Amino acid sequence: MTDMQMLGDEGMEHYLDNAATTRVSDAAAQAALAAMTGEFGNPSSRHQAGGRAAQALKEHRGVIAKALGARPEEVVFTSCGTESDNWAIRGAVRLNRRKGKHIITTAIEHDAVLEPCRELEREGYEVTYLKPDRTGNITAQQVADALREDTVLVSMMLVNNELGTILPVGEVAKLLKTRKSAALLHCDAVQGFLHVPFTVGALGVDLLSISGHKVHAPKGIGALYIKSGIKLPAMIVGGHQEENLRSGTEATAQIAAFAAAVEEWQSKRVQIGSRLSQLKEYAAQKLLDEVPGLETVGGGEAPHILPVTLVGYKSEVVVRFLSDRGIFVSSGSACHKGKPSHVFAALNLPKKQMDGVLRISFSAYNTMEDVDALVDGLKQAKEQLFASLS
Ligand code: PLP
Repeated sequence: MTDMQMLGDEGMEHYLDNAATTRVSDAAAQAALAAMTGEFGNPSSRHQAGGRAAQALKEHRGVIAKALGARPEEVVFTSCGTESDNWAIRGAVRLNRRKGKHIITTAIEHDAVLEPCRELEREGYEVTYLKPDRTGNITAQQVADALREDTVLVSMMLVNNELGTILPVGEVAKLLKTRKSAALLHCDAVQGFLHVPFTVGALGVDLLSISGHKVHAPKGIGALYIKSGIKLPAMIVGGHQEENLRSGTEATAQIAAFAAAVEEWQSKRVQIGSRLSQLKEYAAQKLLDEVPGLETVGGGEAPHILPVTLVGYKSEVVVRFLSDRGIFVSSGSACHKGKPSHVFAALNLPKKQMDGVLRISFSAYNTMEDVDALVDGLKQAKEQLFASLS
């Protein structure tokens, strides 16, 4: 794993916010450079340079498809997880528009799912937002109870980005089948992809979103799995790329990098998995042992996400304090930019716990020294910051 220990070696910074984004791996960066400066042709061009770019695109799509357990033609590249989520939701309800106007999702989805749902509510759809229990779990039974004749879409994430909880997507798929529901099943697997083992077939989903920058590829690349036979309306029309589903010249460099990052992860899957688990276990133990007043939050099982709360302290203040010392964690989803997180709000935590929530998230580039630095930083924060009076 030494070739993955880059961040720890690069000076004094300790990046522990890998659920927000990850460092691009060297293999991914090299693949992007080669695609930008070597095989830079347009895959749609008829000449040899275009042909080589098209061949590379085909191979890269194959890598992502294989990692998902999908067929290459079921994988469409997008610009990010948000685009994949938006497209899946808007497209699924359009496809099913004659079958009803009810959607089931969860109250702890990413805004990339919640916002299009809210938009659809304004257009006359009814959306059921399933609430988690205190640990952040949602059950398939809740979906069973909410399911109606006119339900056209169920959207449930695989791994929650703030809590690390793993949701029962596979069970929901079985339920929809048993109930012979017309609802399409979408899964936001942005935080689950590679981190927890799954195939689209075993999950039984119709649509599934992933994003490159959470797995050591650059920002600006994602994909949507669309099960064959599902005629999702196009995301972008114009140039006929991606089987007419998402026009626009393919982002060949990002795609090459995405494939390289995924290939590297898969070749080190066991090592990365055990490294993440060790980091999380070590951090949880050391934080609980050495930082009085710190508690873990939720029952998240994902190996890379550890939510904790420093009871009585304001998380934004603690995040800033740590940041000034080169230690980077999040006060919740980076997308919320200081607003209280709807995910932790859905847990109904007491205010003192809620205010102090910090999300620590790991990658294989992290070392135990990063955790030690975090623990020291939090001890200093406790000594030097005033507890809030709330
Ligand atoms: N879904 C989840 C669960 C996420 O964690 C994120 C990013 O944080 C997204 C969707 C959005 O992905 P992207 O940043 O690629 O748009």
